[in-house]
Amino acid sequence: MATWHEYVQKNGKVPEWPYPTNYGKVNEVVTDVLVIGGGVAGLQAAINAVKKGAKVAVAERGHAKRSGSGGAGVDHWHGAVTNPCSTVTPEMYTKACYDSMQGWTGGHVRYIITKESWDTLLDCENMGIQIRDVRDEFKGAEFRDDKTKLMFAYDYKSRHIIRVWGWNIKSRLYEEAKRLGVDIFNRMMPTGLLTAGGKQGGRVIGATAVNTRTGEFFVFRSKATVICTGGAGRLYLFDPEITASGSMSDLNSAGVGQALGWNVGAEFVCMEGSGPGRLSGYAYAPYSMANAHNTYHGSPIVDADGKEVPWVDAFNRPIKDVTGRFLPSEGQDFILGEGIGISRYLEQYRNNDLVHDLPERIRKGEFKLPLYADLTRLSEAERRCIFGMMVGNEGKTRVPIYLTMTGAGFDPDKDLFQAPVTMLEGYAHANFWGAGINTPPTVRSPGGGGFLLDWNLRTNLEGLYAAAGGTIYGGGCHGESHTTGRYAGKHAAEYAKTAPELVADKRQIEAEKERAYNATRQSKGGNGWKEINVAIARIMRDYCGRHKNETTLNLGLRLLKELRETELASAYASNPHELGRLLECHSLIDVGELVIKASLSRKASNTILDFHRLDYPEMDPPEWNKLLPIRQENNQAKVRDLPLDFHLKAPYASDYEENYRRYSGH
Ligand SMILES: Cc1cc2nc3c(=O)[nH]c(=O)nc-3n(C[C@H](O)[C@H](O)[C@H](O)COP(=O)(O)OP(=O)(O)OC[C@H]3O[C@@H](n4cnc5c(N)ncnc54)[C@H](O)[C@@H]3O)c2cc1C
Repeated sequence: MATWHEYVQKNGKVPEWPYPTNYGKVNEVVTDVLVIGGGVAGLQAAINAVKKGAKVAVAERGHAKRSGSGGAGVDHWHGAVTNPCSTVTPEMYTKACYDSMQGWTGGHVRYIITKESWDTLLDCENMGIQIRDVRDEFKGAEFRDDKTKLMFAYDYKSRHIIRVWGWNIKSRLYEEAKRLGVDIFNRMMPTGLLTAGGKQGGRVIGATAVNTRTGEFFVFRSKATVICTGGAGRLYLFDPEITASGSMSDLNSAGVGQALGWNVGAEFVCMEGSGPGRLSGYAYAPYSMANAHNTYHGSPIVDADGKEVPWVDAFNRPIKDVTGRFLPSEGQDFILGEGIGISRYLEQYRNNDLVHDLPERIRKGEFKLPLYADLTRLSEAERRCIFGMMVGNEGKTRVPIYLTMTGAGFDPDKDLFQAPVTMLEGYAHANFWGAGINTPPTVRSPGGGGFLLDWNLRTNLEGLYAAAGGTIYGGGCHGESHTTGRYAGKHAAEYAKTAPELVADKRQIEAEKERAYNATRQSKGGNGWKEINVAIARIMRDYCGRHKNETTLNLGLRLLKELRETELASAYASNPHELGRLLECHSLIDVGELVIKASLSRKASNTILDFHRLDYPEMDPPEWNKLLPIRQENNQAKVRDLPLDFHLKAPYASDYEENYRRYSGH
């Protein structure tokens, strides 16, 4: 049967659930290290834990061969500052991130990333991922080092961001994990973490999960657990009709990892931070329209008459030639690069860009719509590198963009590539395809908060580690996720070597099992997961949006609680897939409560967190220049104060290198 329509027309009905269903059947898995989330961070954690001699299991929501935001590829790898061509040191890079964010990022996480990112990339090369121009396709190009054959992005002088042929990175990690004997359990929806004595705040000793194909119940018993589940998409927006959360982020990343940690007493910071939901799915398919940002950085943008839009440096000075778009300008240390979980940049690290007043210039008639990327104005090497090498390897671009466009006859040597025709404000940022202009201003995306980790990338709970971009405070993008996964996996394995095996609490397992199957026992008239998810997102947008006060936040908490106790409690799942999605709704409510409680705790507004309390309108009062770690104890939120630079204060040493020496295991 070729298509869905043919099937339905022939049979007159939709297909039956295709897998045998065994609700309640219990499977037990005993392992040293359990990794929850088999994305790039999770598979790196698993590979590196198994290399340390641990027995490792991965519980993945989708299928680990292609799952996650990194599952469809990558074209540039950040933070590889120790590569032989780089002029940037880990100290310089960490300072650039930390100072740009005015201290609102985990400096220790950044330092670990920059110390090990290049080594992690070399590991990937050994797994069969191409990181060099081995076929000499770009020999002699400005962005290539002819000795090492490495190719660089954004900053051709400082050479710390590496262009990679990463379309197959996920499948190679998956094959490596399988080769090393990691047990990968796909289609797992975790319901809860197991703790010593079943108590909140106790050592984490495993997890329970439901298989979303068979409905079977899984009990994972582990000595150490690493959470790598990505971010909390779908918290502020869910609408399957507009591709919504599926545009950039991963539909499966529904904040479940954070909810698992929150429920057992793990500490989080900056969960009150958020930003505009720019890449939420109201715009265009990722990288599918002309722009001059990220993968397309440096592309010449011309108007309908062929007039080229000028470029400016970080200090708003004109850039004269194409080469200048890829070089730091006078007064800059180096260019940090974009897409690393940093929302603010000091001028000395900021990217070169299209003129910032482009919307105004279009309004005044200086440029005529539509705009186009005219790649013919680039050198052949630069053109083929952007539309070919990079667009051919970037996430979600190889098949839908590169192969589709070239298959339809697009030739960057002679054709113009059109930018979206949109409201003028949409041209204020060089990423035209993801211009937030189409997204309602009420749609937010979680902004930089996550698990609070120590120098071992361990949470406050014994046995519980975390890694990756969206899951942790201080994470970044692709390379950073691999690197933190690698580091956390090693530490979890080390811990597991000497950690005693504990017997899981039977009552905790039974309670999880009871809760997990609730939706299968409800009336068929109950709501489905989509309705519940839409309601959660609406509550978050209305009551915990950009502007909030004590009253709206408390109302939001009340509505989430009522939703959980009424519509969600009586929601119906007709198969294990729907059950998994409904269980995600429980997690989304947990994370929503965490975000709202964190928002209630910060009685001040904050620029970097884009956090606006109408009842505390003063921006950045100095006494609130601190982290507010939040956790649950006896189901009550407990909040404490922590300095932004806690990672350089006792019990830690006061400098990065000394801490790295002490904790990294090197
Ligand atoms: C289109 C696109 C292009 C990108 N390009 C770049 C780039 O060029 N350079 C760059 O640095 N970054 C890039 N990024 C960002 C980068 O891909 C992410 O930062 C990175 O993948 C994050 O890795 P991760 O392992 O933390 O999360 P993910 O890769 O999203 O993996 C999370 C994993 O957890 C699983 N999971 C989720 N929930 C559960 C659950 N409840 N139980 C079990 N498992 C669960 C998911 O299925 C997934 O496998 C891009 C992202 C996208 C979407």
